[in-house]
Amino acid sequence: MPKVYSCSFCGKQVEPGSGLTYVLRNGTILHFCSSKCFKNFKLGRDPKKTPWSAYYVARK
Ligand SMILES: [Zn+2]
Repeated sequence: MPKVYSCSFCGKQVEPGSGLTYVLRNGTILHFCSSKCFKNFKLGRDPKKTPWSAYYVARK
C-alpha cells in the first residue's frame, strides 16, 4: 500500500503521486499537497496563523 502523507502546511492528505516533496538542508522531508501550500511555506508563513490550514490555531 502506498504511503499517504499529510501536507506539511495545511494538514490535508497528499495523494500518492500528487503534490510535491521538499527536502530541507537539515534532512527534514516535507510534503505539500499543492503549489499553494509550497508557496506559502516558501513565503515563511506560519500554518498556525493561516486560517485555511488544519494547523491553524484560533487566537482568543
Ligand atoms: Zn496543503
